[in-house]
Amino acid sequence: MNALALSAVCQAVRPGITTRELDRIAEDVIRSHGGVPAFLGYPNPDPFGPAYPATINASVGSELVHGIPGKRRLREGEIISIDVGTILDGYVGDSAVTVPVGAISTEAKRLLEVTEQALRIGIAASRVGSRFGDVSASIQEYVEAQGYNVVREYTGHGVGRDMHEDPQIPNWGKRDRGAPLRAGMTFALEPMVAIGSPDLYVKRDGWTVATTSGNLCAHFEHTLAVTDGEPEILTL
Ligand code: MG
Ligand code: MG
Repeated sequence: MNALALSAVCQAVRPGITTRELDRIAEDVIRSHGGVPAFLGYPNPDPFGPAYPATINASVGSELVHGIPGKRRLREGEIISIDVGTILDGYVGDSAVTVPVGAISTEAKRLLEVTEQALRIGIAASRVGSRFGDVSASIQEYVEAQGYNVVREYTGHGVGRDMHEDPQIPNWGKRDRGAPLRAGMTFALEPMVAIGSPDLYVKRDGWTVATTSGNLCAHFEHTLAVTDGEPEILTL
């Protein structure tokens, strides 16, 4: 159902639409299927910061995550990262994509392809016999071999009845380290990739995270389950 909301938003992305309109689309899909938006009212990491006021994260251009939907109209050539979380029957789904607004530059297109491929590689590594360090390292090694950098401040995470459970799963790491993966574990992998420096800052709205360099960045995420065979993507 989280996937339905995310795909409805992606289909609506076009020049001229506002990020608030995208937010309404996601909220309508989630609520009409009996779900609850997981991000709405989410506490700020800063104890004095505002709770999250919307259903989706809509992060444009050099913004990476936690962009608050609003009056901003998308423009041809931009990229937008949409992150959606849903609570249904007491369990959370969390997934994200970065998509083009109309025609985008070759550079931006390649960034999206590499980040999505990094997620596929992380998922493929998520099997019994691996450790979390293997999953993290597989993402980092691929991204860096493509000439990009992984973000350090935000990570994948366990997902269950709560959106953010242990363990944290960074997009960098060392092989043969960390806990071994076991069948039945559920977690979100979310490669976040920047062109140039991956340093980030939080904008004055208290939520929106963007690259300090102003360079483009991208984010792809799925929630998955480890099984005795192929990993199962729960947010497809
Ligand atoms: Mg997410
Ligand atoms: Mg997540």
